[in-house]
Amino acid sequence: MVVMTPQAGQAEIDAVVKRLEAVGVHAKVMPGELTTAIGAIGDPEGVRALALEGMAGVDQVIPISRPYKLASSELSHHEPTVVKVDGRRVGAQETFCLIAGPCTVESREQTMEVARAVQRAGASMLRGGAFKPRTSPFSFQGLGEPALEVLREAREETGLPVVSELTDPAHADAMAEAVDVIQVGARNMQNYGLLEVVGKLGKPVLLKRGLSSTVDELLMAADYVLKEGNENVILCERGIRTFETATRFTLDLGAVPYLKLHTHLPVIVDPSHASGDRRLVEPLSRAAAAVGADGIIVEVATDPDSALCDGPQQLYASDFGAFAKAVGDHASLVGRRLA
Ligand code: PEP
Ligand code: MN
Repeated sequence: MVVMTPQAGQAEIDAVVKRLEAVGVHAKVMPGELTTAIGAIGDPEGVRALALEGMAGVDQVIPISRPYKLASSELSHHEPTVVKVDGRRVGAQETFCLIAGPCTVESREQTMEVARAVQRAGASMLRGGAFKPRTSPFSFQGLGEPALEVLREAREETGLPVVSELTDPAHADAMAEAVDVIQVGARNMQNYGLLEVVGKLGKPVLLKRGLSSTVDELLMAADYVLKEGNENVILCERGIRTFETATRFTLDLGAVPYLKLHTHLPVIVDPSHASGDRRLVEPLSRAAAAVGADGIIVEVATDPDSALCDGPQQLYASDFGAFAKAVGDHASLVGRRLA
């Protein structure tokens, strides 16, 4: 929508129409009491490229169509996308997916113990970081490739598919071989080169919302993966930076129904990184189920008090059975059962 200034004359309106029509965009002139608006109907990118804001008599150019394309529920898809991971269906209306495990693979024993505990309690998948994107270069960076071996073993013993984060294209092949779902973390949501690499790997992707990204930016990031022909993208709301500092981040639960409305992709919630406090994880998980999320990804440890990373937010593995039951009960209130 091109809004002209109140002073714009007919010659200026005609010039805008001519410019639009020259590139095959249909122009509809709508005179108003104070100003004239011109509807530009055609490829939004093409209209943007014309830089109409610079033309005489133009006040504003307001995009009406949404900026994301392949992720949009308006375009291409009518049915919700269901991401299938070794028999688990993420995004299916009747299932709720519980991804659980340690923040980081610290040792074989630590990871195997958590894996067994979450598997017993009915988790759908195991999470665990091998390469950690730490805010400080002096913090523990993860065990790297040896951790992938541990995750492989955990999957073999428990049968749980494994989710782990890719931070660097250099590790892409090793990750693709070892894990079932490739996570792109909040800090890399706008690492477009990495998104394209992940798109080409062809593995299911768990894409987390950036710390300070809008949901529309999350959907455009998803477009980077989708355009490589990889349809299996799970979106994750994990809390954003706001003026509020009581919790580690502010969990934007409103993003969940918004995303369910505007995209065909599955949406899950990370209550662990959002809150930073294990006491808040269960209520936020129940809320995630109630608000229509397709699942949660949650941190669990046998001994969180000695964890090298994110100890205060990790649930005790010994509490995980009761936690899973409470969340499963809430999911059943909205017609879902644990996947
Ligand atoms: C994680 O899930 O391990 C993680 C680092 O989360 P985020 O990218 O959301 O901070
Ligand atoms: Mn963590």
